[in-house]
Amino acid sequence: MSPLTPSSDATFPRVSPGVVTGEDYRTLVSACQKGRYALPAVNVSSSSAANAVLEAAHHNQADIVIQISASGAHFYAGNSLPPSDETRALGAVALAQHVHLLAQHYGVAVILHTDHADRSRLGWLDALIAHNQQHYTQTGRPLFSSHMLDLSSEPVEENIATAATLLKRLAPLNIGLEIELGMTGGEEDGLGHELSDNPSCNLNLYTHPTDVLTAWRKLSPLGMLSIAASFGNVHGVYKPGKVQLRPDLLQQSQTLIAATLDTPPNPVPFVFHGGSGSALADIRQAVEYGVFKFNIDTDTQFATSQGVANYIAAHKEAFIHQVSPNTGKPLKKFYDVRQWMRAGEKSCCERLNEAFLVLGSHKKSIARRP
Ligand SMILES: [Zn+2]
Repeated sequence: MSPLTPSSDATFPRVSPGVVTGEDYRTLVSACQKGRYALPAVNVSSSSAANAVLEAAHHNQADIVIQISASGAHFYAGNSLPPSDETRALGAVALAQHVHLLAQHYGVAVILHTDHADRSRLGWLDALIAHNQQHYTQTGRPLFSSHMLDLSSEPVEENIATAATLLKRLAPLNIGLEIELGMTGGEEDGLGHELSDNPSCNLNLYTHPTDVLTAWRKLSPLGMLSIAASFGNVHGVYKPGKVQLRPDLLQQSQTLIAATLDTPPNPVPFVFHGGSGSALADIRQAVEYGVFKFNIDTDTQFATSQGVANYIAAHKEAFIHQVSPNTGKPLKKFYDVRQWMRAGEKSCCERLNEAFLVLGSHKKSIARRP
């Protein structure tokens, strides 16, 4: 990897701690790409999970992406509320307000993002844009740094045309757009498709560099664009061997675009979906080829659940009795909801410690108090 700019360098770009949007978002993305490191982008669906991610970022002196899916947002709003675009928007807004209020106190920069929205979720994006617009009118800033549109299952022309329409609405609000080209395999939140046991049937998991060029040429002049270009990525953790990761496709895309459009090297901010369970060498290569955002959901969910499971296993009695039948002592301090939730948070943080190291973002926060 290239040498990194020392953090003491006064000319190195800085942003204020807290949620970054607009120019500050651009500055952070470009710092990642120039420094050849990536930020973990962690899916959350509760304030506890958001706090664990902020804690891990603070502990690692690293910047971070906090993102929420449509169903995660429904959960955040409260699963008893009827599922609708507006409920899902309200849940995402609740997370955004939580993070806007607290992020600056953790001393790091945070990108706030929403995850996969296919055509059936365009109404969710409409509702989110309305909330962003309202916040922008009140504060001069949007609620979210960026949103994702995933029309990867549609013909690439339709994907790009809809992305263009959306980007034109997001750009005046200083919000970025992440699109997906080619398909991420596996399933997440009911989106995606199952893998075939025959690797040659999984060819749609690989983006064509020419499609990346077409998308970049048409969309990047319209606003802040990032691309989840699939290179064999799979959501979730699967048995090895079904697909092969090909980060060289990212390199081919960057080289093609730089040569065709006469740009500096690695012009495209790439996003790595389905990061959980990936091999270290593939991750490092992908970051080298311009990945700035590395999505993690499955591994952090597993880590959180493991932390809770281990805690319960160590304090079994307290999850059956309020008072110990053996000692006669109250067990509240063990079954206190905060105790086992905290065990989950700590375990999630430990998994993220690994992620920051692997992605090279440990101690690379560009946030400084003015
Ligand atoms: Zn994804």
